[in-house]
Amino acid sequence: MAPTEGDEQPPLRMLFFRFLLPGHLIPMADMAALFAARGVRCTILTTPLQASTIRSIVDRANTSLGSVDVVVVPFPDVGLPPSAESGTGLTSKDYNDRFLRTAELLQEPFRRFLSSHHAEIDAVVSDGLFHWSVDDAAEHGIPRITFLGTSMFARSCTEAMLRSNPFEVCSDDPATVISLPGLPHRVVELRGQMMDPVKRPHEWALFQLIHAADRRSYGELFNSFHELEPAYAEHYRATLHRRAWLVGPVALASGSGKDVTSRGAVAGALSPESIGCLRWLDEKPASSVLYVSFGTMTIFSPEQMRELARGLDLSGKNFLWVIANGSASTDLCMPDGFPMAHRGYIVRGWAPQVLILNHPAVGGYMTHCGWNSTLEAVSAGVPMVTWPRYADQFHNEKLVAEVLEVGVGVGAEDYATWMETHRLIGSEVIAESIRKVMKKETMWKKAEELGAKARAAVEKGGSSYDDVGQLMEELMARRCSGRTARGQL
Ligand code: UDP
Repeated sequence: MAPTEGDEQPPLRMLFFRFLLPGHLIPMADMAALFAARGVRCTILTTPLQASTIRSIVDRANTSLGSVDVVVVPFPDVGLPPSAESGTGLTSKDYNDRFLRTAELLQEPFRRFLSSHHAEIDAVVSDGLFHWSVDDAAEHGIPRITFLGTSMFARSCTEAMLRSNPFEVCSDDPATVISLPGLPHRVVELRGQMMDPVKRPHEWALFQLIHAADRRSYGELFNSFHELEPAYAEHYRATLHRRAWLVGPVALASGSGKDVTSRGAVAGALSPESIGCLRWLDEKPASSVLYVSFGTMTIFSPEQMRELARGLDLSGKNFLWVIANGSASTDLCMPDGFPMAHRGYIVRGWAPQVLILNHPAVGGYMTHCGWNSTLEAVSAGVPMVTWPRYADQFHNEKLVAEVLEVGVGVGAEDYATWMETHRLIGSEVIAESIRKVMKKETMWKKAEELGAKARAAVEKGGSSYDDVGQLMEELMARRCSGRTARGQL
């Protein structure tokens, strides 16, 4: 018999399941921690190495009365070495393709887990990439909530692009200006900056599948907050008729802002130079340092690394540059005496990004516009030099530079992964964008105001705090009214 409203109910239980990349797993763990802090029992399904990268977030959540458990399943056998499980530093297209196949192979352990535990689970929070999870969850009458991990702005742009397919009626010149229809702002991008279906039929088809599955889902969770992109929250609900809960910035909401040194590092381990960068920052004047990091998946060519090094030098600013594993051997790319003689510090590998962004010495962030990094900069009130490469990054650049006006672009024009060729961006242009961001006082003011709004959103009574409560109430009401019939959401 279905429980009734007045019955004492056990806590809600949510299953979190995301693709095996740091940029997907870190915000998922943060999000699980914030639901756990509100009394939800959270389970994360992931693989062994990835479990080690989110261990510090999970442990912290559990010491502060939350309940997050991690169910570890084997890394799918796709013929990759064990170190490749992190998904970063993959050295060839073949390795990259194999890694992407794990997204399909994880369906089997996910199905097995659901078969044994479906009776206890109130909702599955699934990566959008796992489009098939909508049917697996529906088979057990469990609502599937998508978490793609991007901004509402980028999500709306992609939706407009997939729906209208503007490429069909325009020149295939990458310099063609394309306007995305039906959005709250006028958004125009160059064809070369977009996911072009002629060049990328597989990616386009995958996104069609993802969006179709999301439309059939119970709703969507966003690592964002209403005050950041109110027109897009409204667009999502009123125009697209989709349910969305904006619960971020999750890196703030989970409370992990207090102790985040090893957040996301494999086995929680940081190199001495990585820890040393915080001491180096301590010695620098307020807002004098540009933080330079392009997330976990961006690799520049040796020529581009050299131009970037020269650009940092020419800018005349202090800089802290994080070079991800897999990048070109930097010793070959740098000018003599770099970086110390040039006011800089380099970290190779993993760095404590949230701590760096919140350090008083940091006054700007050169970023690839991955959504987590972008939102972490917004939360810290730091303006950005934007250098997008692919995925949602060009959309996020528009949001940062044109809608929020807290960034300046370096002029990236080609949507391409690290395995493809990019037009070289010269040192003078790089230096000029850095100078603009580091001196623009109005931009700093706007960035600081946004940071304050971000922090308020996750406080008790803030918009993100309320959206968490709203979703929990809906899930509890759904439980109390009895499960819908099999196959129904
Ligand atoms: N990150 C970090 N240290 C690093 C590199 C990345 O803590 O040295 C974190 C960063 O704070 C963010 C995530 O990894 O939470 C990267 O996600 P994002 O969406 O910005 O970029 P991606 O790596 O997915 O392209």
